[in-house]
Order: sequence, then structure tokens, then C-alpha cells
Amino acid sequence: MDPSALPPLVGCLVCHHEGTITHARGRRLIQLGTSDALTLTCAHCAMVATLDWEPAVEDPSQAETWRIRFRKLPRDYPYTYAATLFGKAGWLHADQALDMSAQVYIHRERLQQAQAGLLDWLKPRLLSPPPPLMSAEERVYLALKPVQYGKRGSGSPFQAGREGTVLDTGTFYLTDSKIHLLGQQRDRSHRLSEIAQASFDERGWTLVLEGNSTSANYYYGATTLGDLFDGELIVAIILALRDGAS
Ligand SMILES: [Zn+2]
Repeated sequence: MDPSALPPLVGCLVCHHEGTITHARGRRLIQLGTSDALTLTCAHCAMVATLDWEPAVEDPSQAETWRIRFRKLPRDYPYTYAATLFGKAGWLHADQALDMSAQVYIHRERLQQAQAGLLDWLKPRLLSPPPPLMSAEERVYLALKPVQYGKRGSGSPFQAGREGTVLDTGTFYLTDSKIHLLGQQRDRSHRLSEIAQASFDERGWTLVLEGNSTSANYYYGATTLGDLFDGELIVAIILALRDGAS
């Protein structure tokens, strides 16, 4: 049977281009079974995966009949999110792989929209009543929880963020003019223009404020592993607002 109708051969699960997947027969994974393994390679993003499928099934488009394991993933923009998500996954059954691939696609679309200053998809809204320190006119683009406020440690700017000392934790609001933290200890608020640095890695994001040496020694940040709103997307949204979107 021709496996070319299987979804991972029709379109790349990482970059979503069609017609870029070539396949070669791999080693037989289950020596005495009927399972066949194919090695898939994408000519666009250079992804390499092993596809294990069941040739006896009548309809190869059936979602349950295959599983995939990614062996090589593109690491560069805009595929870092896909690499993080798929890179930790191991063997994925068809429905899991397709769900994650859809999330990768949505993330990439949202990231590119944010970087173009397009944020209406976040459905910014007024809070009524607004929390303390927020004006009634501020439109909320993101509400994130839990977010940490802390004192920076030494080391690289990013590590100096979330590897510093946590001083407070609470709900973080990003609005069209400010960031707010409704903390367990106290509430804090800063203008977007005070954000000096916004950085991310595969574990999360960090903001550092400019201004006097006191405020520059503190950070806001959170761990976001696996979320659609990962560090890369959150930082892109924050910078788009700071730099004049909406
Ligand atoms: Zn690809």
C-alpha cells in the first residue's frame, strides 16, 4: 500500500508546507509484526522524523493508524516553538501529533501577527471595575498568572531574571499603556516605556525595567513551558505594545 496519503507525508507537521516531504524506508521497528517504518525528511525546514504506520489498514487517512517520532528539528526562527514542543515529545500517536502540529501552526501565526503589530486577536478589553492602579480606560491584552517579581541575580541578563530572588507572585496584566502585577505582597505598576529589556528562552520570559539603578535590579517573569503563550510570543506582544502597536 502507498503511504503517501498519510497526513505527515502530505504536509510537514512542523512548517506546514505541502509537497516538501520525501520518505525512505527505515528499519523495521517491530521485527515480527506488520509495522513498517519510514524516515521522513522535509525539504523546507529540514525536519527528520520516523513514521511508524500500519500498512494493512484500508484507509490510510485514518488518524489512529500511525505514530511519529521527530529525530531532527529546525532550531531557528520561526521554528523554535515547534522544536521545543516536539523535541520533548518522543513517540506521538496520530491524534497527539496532529493536535500539537495545529498548536505549532497557531503559535507561528500569532507570533508573526504580533511582530507585525497586529494584536486585535487578543481581544483587548476593559476591566470593570479595574484592579488597583489600573485606569478604567486601559485595555487589557494579556492577563497571566502566576508571574513573579524578583531581584535579579548575577549572570546573563536572562538568567539574572528568573534565577534571582523571588519577592512576590501574582496576576500580571499587560495593557495598552502599562504593566501591572497584583501581587500577594503588594500591587505594582509601570509604564510600558519603562521596559528596557524583554527576553525569553524555551522555559519562559523576563522583563527588566530601565530607570534608576534600583528599578533596573528587579524583574518580572514566568515559566511558560508548553503553553501557546510561551516566552517568545509573550515577549513579541509586550514589545509590539511598547513600540506602538494598537
Ligand atoms: Zn517542514
